[in-house]
Amino acid sequence: MEIPYKIYLEESELPTQWYNVRADMKNKPAPLLNPANGEPAGLDMLSAVFCRELAEQELDNDTAYIDIPEEIQSFYKMYRPSPLVRAYCLEKALGTPAKIYYKFEGNNTSGSHKLNSAIAQAFYAKKQGLKGVTTETGAGQWGTALSMACAYFGLDCKVYMVKVSYEQKPFRREVMRTYGANVTPSPSETTEVGRKILAEFPGTTGSLGCAISEAVEVALHTEGYRYVLGSVLNQVLLHQSVIGLESMAACDKYDIKPDIIIGCAGGGSNLGGLISPFMGRKLRGEADYRFIAVEPASCPSLTRGKFAYDFCDTGKVCPLAKMYTLGSGFIPSPNHAGGLRYHGMSSIISQLYDDGLMEARSCEQTSVFDAAQQFARIEGILPAPESSHAIRVAIDEAMRCKETGEEKTILFGLTGTGYFDMVAYQKYNDGEMTDYIPTDEDIAKSLAALPDVR
Ligand SMILES: *Cc1c(COP(=O)(O)O)cnc(C)c1O
Repeated sequence: MEIPYKIYLEESELPTQWYNVRADMKNKPAPLLNPANGEPAGLDMLSAVFCRELAEQELDNDTAYIDIPEEIQSFYKMYRPSPLVRAYCLEKALGTPAKIYYKFEGNNTSGSHKLNSAIAQAFYAKKQGLKGVTTETGAGQWGTALSMACAYFGLDCKVYMVKVSYEQKPFRREVMRTYGANVTPSPSETTEVGRKILAEFPGTTGSLGCAISEAVEVALHTEGYRYVLGSVLNQVLLHQSVIGLESMAACDKYDIKPDIIIGCAGGGSNLGGLISPFMGRKLRGEADYRFIAVEPASCPSLTRGKFAYDFCDTGKVCPLAKMYTLGSGFIPSPNHAGGLRYHGMSSIISQLYDDGLMEARSCEQTSVFDAAQQFARIEGILPAPESSHAIRVAIDEAMRCKETGEEKTILFGLTGTGYFDMVAYQKYNDGEMTDYIPTDEDIAKSLAALPDVR
């Protein structure tokens, strides 16, 4: 069958349920723990922080398919299905016998896959009768997606934006404000944890872990508010499974059988979402695939971190998660421009990786931007630096096929566009981008502060 450049599904073929890969995992991801007593965090504790139904999804290790509420399906239809693209032009330019496909999630105003979970989280907050939600944002994609989702459901949205991004990415900030969000640079004077961090480190430009602490504090102390998070959590991977389900339906429709499935990994949500249904088939023994997580060499949680319980935030107010981590105090080198800077990794991805069901690889940022530039010039899309980690490894694998003559089928997740990352591209274009790989001592230092559990 002739395979079109772009494979779209009909509306009637869109997923009506999310897929929860935990249901098929023999070794379930470890539970979140209450930092006060080391006991598993139950529904009561989690629903003080998160919306009730989202807390239930967080804890649900058994239900394989969960209905996507009608309201969310309608919103999805405004920008989904996302195209599955056959990279004919890239294949030709590389001269590879490999077949390359990518699932492009950048075709919405927020510019990334994060909207898939933002709209779900806003829906459950609205359904619960809440007034609003709080969150943090680093590069700004999550804050933008959540602002759009909250505007749609008429919810208030308070975003704590890492100060350095707030100052360097004024346009991201303005998109959020256009959608009605209230954006505060973090650390700020508006929270106790923010004031404490400012007193201890005056002039700090902030971090993701610190912004999380501020957002959680505000949610816990404001009537009618809950905290929402754009990655890492089980519930987020569940919502993002829409990426994998659409990809799988499109592949099945055209009898495409991927051999290698690749995704960039920050907190693990797009990767988890893309691979979940395929991993389900692998776990059930129905098919086999190679899965590759790609992370920056400057923030290598899977390839150089430790699988242990750790804090999710700097202020240590969140439950503890068992994950591959570099330690909650780990901050990537200031020259790192490519995103994916969270110190930990989704518990689901961590467990699958620890069980040997998937691989991980790290890439230096100059080689990631080489791939980004090559891709932009050949396939036309200006990719986000995060997404370009997956492009790097997809190209590497395609070049390996060229050497061996193997006709492998490669599928990768192209998570978003890079329009707001032009400062990073500028550095690259000016030849000023450098690589920094943390030393073993750097990593040992932040790992020394892991909490003492189990
Ligand atoms: C946030 C983001 C990522 C990384 O987050 P994951 O949770 O690991 O998917 C990757 N690409 C883009 C474009 C993003 O906005």
